[in-house]
Amino acid sequence: MSFAGPRPGLRDVDPYAAPQLDVPVRLNTNECPYPLPDGFVQDLQEAVRAIPLNRYPDREATQLREVLAAHTGHAFEGTWAANGSNEVIQQLLLAYGGPGRAAVVFPPTYELFARLSWATHTGAVSVEVAEPWAIGPTQIAAAVVEQPDVVFVCSPNNPTGNTQAPGVVAELASALETALIVVDEAYIEFGGHSALGLVATHPNVVVVRTMSKAFALAGARLGYLLADPVVVEDLRRVRLPYHVSALTQAAGLTALQHSEDALAILDALREQRDRILVALSQTAGVTAYPSQSNFVLFRTERDASDVWRGLLDRGVLVRDFTKTIPGCLRVNAGTPEETEAFLNAMKEVL
Ligand code: PMP
Repeated sequence: MSFAGPRPGLRDVDPYAAPQLDVPVRLNTNECPYPLPDGFVQDLQEAVRAIPLNRYPDREATQLREVLAAHTGHAFEGTWAANGSNEVIQQLLLAYGGPGRAAVVFPPTYELFARLSWATHTGAVSVEVAEPWAIGPTQIAAAVVEQPDVVFVCSPNNPTGNTQAPGVVAELASALETALIVVDEAYIEFGGHSALGLVATHPNVVVVRTMSKAFALAGARLGYLLADPVVVEDLRRVRLPYHVSALTQAAGLTALQHSEDALAILDALREQRDRILVALSQTAGVTAYPSQSNFVLFRTERDASDVWRGLLDRGVLVRDFTKTIPGCLRVNAGTPEETEAFLNAMKEVL
């Protein structure tokens, strides 16, 4: 017998590839630019010291989920945690997607919806949304035609930064009662309105959030789901046993104990985001798009990939979106110094 090789088409797909470059100013993956405060570090050290790492972690991550439930005001039974919201999305697709099933995505949006659909053998159907990227009756009707099993809505949307109108998720949930409507709220702490209130009235609506952005915990890999308890029961059937490590649970618990610190820097980040928006809007040859997240998408008249390279030559890394949104780059809100470095580099490059 000879080695059969990978699944058909696997090698036609590139790995996820946001560049991780060692440059002074990294503004390309929407992380929090501030390190976690000393108090957090001390508490985490103590918590880690107390972990019996020879034992498996609490498989149900009970304490962490209780604290997440308290933090969000959602019921414990409907609160679930995983390794980043990416893993939550993957688990949702393992449970509700699969061969012969379809997921609707509304590009331009978070790339992982389509990628994880593909990975789980779920057919991804794109319903394009034109600038200013508001999902409206046309897109909802187009989604309904597809009779999908899963629908992904990202609000605030990555990479465009806009939020969807309050009625959009409710309309999708009512028009597609047999589909799971997944609302990705990775950036909800920065702006917009949550769909969480719909979960009680529409059991097919689920909300996915992350500790990677507003909670500055990207390195720990922790995301969570707020849903009907039935959905959580379904995810238990597909998750890997002990999927959230004891270290991750400790990091999440400690971060939530220090939630005032995290929430205190939100204003500073919004300020830098708005500063970028104002400065770019006043720059000739640049169009910057309003954002309710921690980043700004902008279009340059000059070849945007050249601009990206010029910024990198000056030690500033932003994200090149030219392949998905022609002419566009995305920059996330940094510290005031990082924002300064970005804006100065932009002036030089243009
Ligand atoms: N959803 C969106 C919209 C994102 O932008 C990101 C991070 N880039 C994620 C989910 C994944 O975040 P994490 O897996 O770190 O929780």
